[in-house]
Amino acid sequence: MIGGASKPAAAMCTLCRERPRVGALSRCAICVRAAAEVDRQSRSTAESRVATRKSAQEAAEARAAGEHQAALERLGQMYMEFAASPEGVRFLKAQHAELIGLRNDGEYVKAALARDKEREVAANETTTVHHWVEWGRNFLSLTLQNDRNHAKAHEVSAILRRLLEAELRYHPDPHDTTKSADYAQKRPPKHTFGREVRSLGNERVKRRK
Ligand SMILES: [Zn+2]
Repeated sequence: MIGGASKPAAAMCTLCRERPRVGALSRCAICVRAAAEVDRQSRSTAESRVATRKSAQEAAEARAAGEHQAALERLGQMYMEFAASPEGVRFLKAQHAELIGLRNDGEYVKAALARDKEREVAANETTTVHHWVEWGRNFLSLTLQNDRNHAKAHEVSAILRRLLEAELRYHPDPHDTTKSADYAQKRPPKHTFGREVRSLGNERVKRRK
């Protein structure tokens, strides 16, 4: 505007000092618009820079994920090739055997030792193994060291049931009047004993030998 110089300095744009200020602002309309334009551009540049950085980061992440996946696939491929190879088969078999062996070895040994101990108890108590045949049928029975020790007889029969994985069938004494075969069994009176010997025939006689 011509004659601007005549206007008071305070009313002029603080930036160009050529044009009058707009309203209460310190700059003229052109400078304000220019500044707004610069501002807009720098903001959009910043935004696009952020966007670029973000997309670059995303691209980098995607690339890393892809590389990781590819590495896994290569590893899987290598593993399968190894597993299919003769040395791989040998290796995996050995690993498997070791795994199974280690896991069961302790238990197996423990069970074997327990069985051995029980077998020893039964063996120590057994003096004779009887093999009877009657009417074409075979029967096996044992005579124990002390054949009046009912507790020991129960222990041995339980051991045999476990070791042989057989049913234990207890046949109580038909001559026991107390009905308690386990405890306090008295020696039968002589006449009863004599009958027992006769009724059992050769078996009792054999057992005494
Ligand atoms: Zn201006």
